Amino acid sequence: MSFPALVEPADELTIDEVRRYSRHLIIPDVGMTGQKRLKNAKVLVIGAGGLGSPALLYLAAAGVHTLGIAEFDEVDESNLQRQIIHGQSDIGKSKAQSAKESIAETNPYVDVIVHETRLDNDNVMEIFRGYDLIVDGTDNFATRYMVNDAAYFLGIPYVWGSIYRFDGQASVFAPTMADDAPCYRCLYPEPPPPGMVPSCAEGGVLGVLCASIGSIQVNEAIKLLTGIGEPLIGKLMIYDALEMEYRKLRVRKDPNCALCGENPTVTGLIDYETFCGAISDDAAEAAAGSTISVTQLEHMLKERSEGTRDFVLVDVREPNEFEINRIPGSVLIPKGDFLNGSALEKLPSDKQIVMHCKSGVRSAETLAIVKGAGYADAVHVGGGVVAWVNQIDPSQPSY
Ligand SMILES: [Zn+2]
Repeated sequence: MSFPALVEPADELTIDEVRRYSRHLIIPDVGMTGQKRLKNAKVLVIGAGGLGSPALLYLAAAGVHTLGIAEFDEVDESNLQRQIIHGQSDIGKSKAQSAKESIAETNPYVDVIVHETRLDNDNVMEIFRGYDLIVDGTDNFATRYMVNDAAYFLGIPYVWGSIYRFDGQASVFAPTMADDAPCYRCLYPEPPPPGMVPSCAEGGVLGVLCASIGSIQVNEAIKLLTGIGEPLIGKLMIYDALEMEYRKLRVRKDPNCALCGENPTVTGLIDYETFCGAISDDAAEAAAGSTISVTQLEHMLKERSEGTRDFVLVDVREPNEFEINRIPGSVLIPKGDFLNGSALEKLPSDKQIVMHCKSGVRSAETLAIVKGAGYADAVHVGGGVVAWVNQIDPSQPSY
């Protein structure tokens, strides 16, 4: 099923633009009219990270005239493995500004609007308003649900993508474009339980996967803007880079969807952090009053080396993370061993247990298990190894 173009054509292309976009112009389906539509298009890309990097570069190169960038973060060395819009000299710089500079080099005719702020309920509607289309390169569930809801309320279609390790997904959510077009909530009515789905920062991502999924997103964006082909509306594209397999699944509109269903319960923006939960209730309860700082841990380790204190420091991350960096004197017992119960056999019953992970989410979950097994004085390290490297031992690499 085809859909009408989202954007009316601009009046004309300049001679320079005709030269620049000639490879588009000679494709009959795009042609002069399609390119003029791109010239009139306003697209907002959320995040100038893994997906946003290729998306912004290709949208700019394609001649989308107005590109918004919603991004508040700064370029970190660990971004450069995949976020190709940034370079070595951009480390420490604002990602939005760095992306803007790269775009100017790719296509000086593009008008870049920078939204250098964290999207939240107070600004999301104002930022989205006026764009024809949104490309979502968000990496967390709270923002994804917020983007979905805000786009629905404003009637703006959006192209969604997600990546993890070797797996990617993409779809177009445009419930206002067709009666049977689903939204993100029709596909995923509820976020996964906190701690169940690791982020790319926790679990890793193959750098080139960003290009695979980001380019699908741009492909869909161009089709929607110009009204050509069959967009991924009501379809979910699933990509497995290891098997080199693409699958396309049908996604139906859910008549019971809380947002776009027949009797919606979400009629305005909600508290997305609470909806998605940073950590589970059990973990939050276990961590309350049982969280130590990395400075406290450093002090405890010093006392342990002097023989005035004894405890076991357990790193609950995965072995490959342990190889990148570690807190000296820690032992590795991955979180999975706590979930299947085998970790408890390895723990001494007469010593205090101190646990940490990368950021403190996984260790809060394992803390709940260990406390439940009777280790009343167990604690975990807030901020995990990230805080350790930042505050105590900057000589170790971060990831
Ligand atoms: Zn829905």
